Amino acid sequence: MGVPYSAKHRYYNRNITTEIFFIAETFTNLTGHKYAKIVGYQLSLEPFILMSTITTPTNFNDLGLIPALLARLTELKYLQPTPIQAQAIPKILDGHDLIAGANTGSGKTATFALPLLQHLFLQQQAKKTSTSHRVKGNYVTGLILVPTRELAKQVADSIKSYAVHFNGSIKTVAVFGGVSSNTQMLALRGGTDILVATPGRLLDLITSNAIKLDRVETLVLDEADRMLSLGFTEELSALLALLPNKKQTLLFSATFPEQVQALTQELLNDPVEIQLQSADASSLVQRVFTVNKGQKTALLAHLIKQHQWRQTLIFVNAKNNCNHLADKLSKRGIAAEVFHGDKGQGARNRVLAAFKAGEIEVLIATDIAARGLDIEKLPVVINFDLPRSPSDYMHRIGRSGRAGEVGLALSLIDHEDYYHFKIIEKKNKIRLEREEVAGFEVAEDELLIAANKPMAKPEGSGKKKRKNKTPTNADIWLRNS
Ligand code: AMP
Repeated sequence: MGVPYSAKHRYYNRNITTEIFFIAETFTNLTGHKYAKIVGYQLSLEPFILMSTITTPTNFNDLGLIPALLARLTELKYLQPTPIQAQAIPKILDGHDLIAGANTGSGKTATFALPLLQHLFLQQQAKKTSTSHRVKGNYVTGLILVPTRELAKQVADSIKSYAVHFNGSIKTVAVFGGVSSNTQMLALRGGTDILVATPGRLLDLITSNAIKLDRVETLVLDEADRMLSLGFTEELSALLALLPNKKQTLLFSATFPEQVQALTQELLNDPVEIQLQSADASSLVQRVFTVNKGQKTALLAHLIKQHQWRQTLIFVNAKNNCNHLADKLSKRGIAAEVFHGDKGQGARNRVLAAFKAGEIEVLIATDIAARGLDIEKLPVVINFDLPRSPSDYMHRIGRSGRAGEVGLALSLIDHEDYYHFKIIEKKNKIRLEREEVAGFEVAEDELLIAANKPMAKPEGSGKKKRKNKTPTNADIWLRNS
């Protein structure tokens, strides 16, 4: 596994009161190739890549993929494998089970999709004599379980895109709830090579005999932690019971709470383990701004206007909060769209497409709606409401800084959030400097309230020590890389 090492230089230009960090990182990956990146990070909020050099590129050709896939990767301008791709693809091609700790943005979809496509394609070639390579009946060979409908569509779209040079010989279907099942049943007629599904809808389709799992050869659990935390535990157990014992299982999860560990023990057979804690954290700057209670919206509007971010994804904790915040921003001259579970599927698709295309600059979303969205190069993610759980924090910030791009993950906290944010930091083993924005300084009495709230007391007696040692964002960044 690659062991990153880093060097940091700080540069102060006092005349223009700008502080810039230069962060140099070099990585050595499994195959011994080295690459380096130098990133500049300015306290004016905008992180930027100063220089990115590849000294000895890793190559997709080294991974054992067939020409039809390699050609497609070149067309997609995938110049080199991401760390998880470099490490996992050869193992999957060799038939191993896999547990991978990887966030969205690490390139995990291609990690499981490319070997799966290759396996199915080669299997078809081997059975050339048959007019149809698929066994008759409503069977599926490669099953990918995902937590949300958006992710189901996104993964299926990626697979179809990777498979273009197979000229339609590999059938991929996505099924998910929230829309009528009739079209999905029709699509499943005669079976499918690959099925991307959310657990609930898949169970319904099995009950109506639209699909059978007896011949699954590869099972992928994508975002397993999220699937379990969204309450799919029972559906998952029911589905797993229907699968054949002999199969290859690939499990991807950003975090490994007990439930996921139990699942891996039950499901996986002598798996290869790949832990990429921060495949994308190295390209993320996390910042926390303190603000007086009641001033979050004003601060948010100020930041959006000041920095003119192209695409900003703002997280809140409830559907109603989405609409309220959109109204408040609109009164301040900022157009924002909302994205949550109460919106119809058609409306969600339209909003997402417009956001991806850059037609909508500010999108306000709840956790469930925004999970797993693949929005390339999303520059800014803002926690307006703090996420309820520390793992949700990691999932949220994973929307930013994707595939080598530098992103900004910003949390706005008032005194009621102080303690909650400390827990998020502790669980995620990070510590971020509290910062204030000029014009939005926190009033002394708010600080006092925060300090005197029983829950707000820092745990233990080492407050001073920790305070003195509070690392800068750049330190955090380095530690995460
Ligand atoms: P994922 O982690 O699967 O959601 O992928 C994140 C994004 O990275 C997607 O937009 C992919 O198309 C893109 N991507 C995946 N692998 C590579 C690669 N090797 N080079 C460039 N982009 C990639």
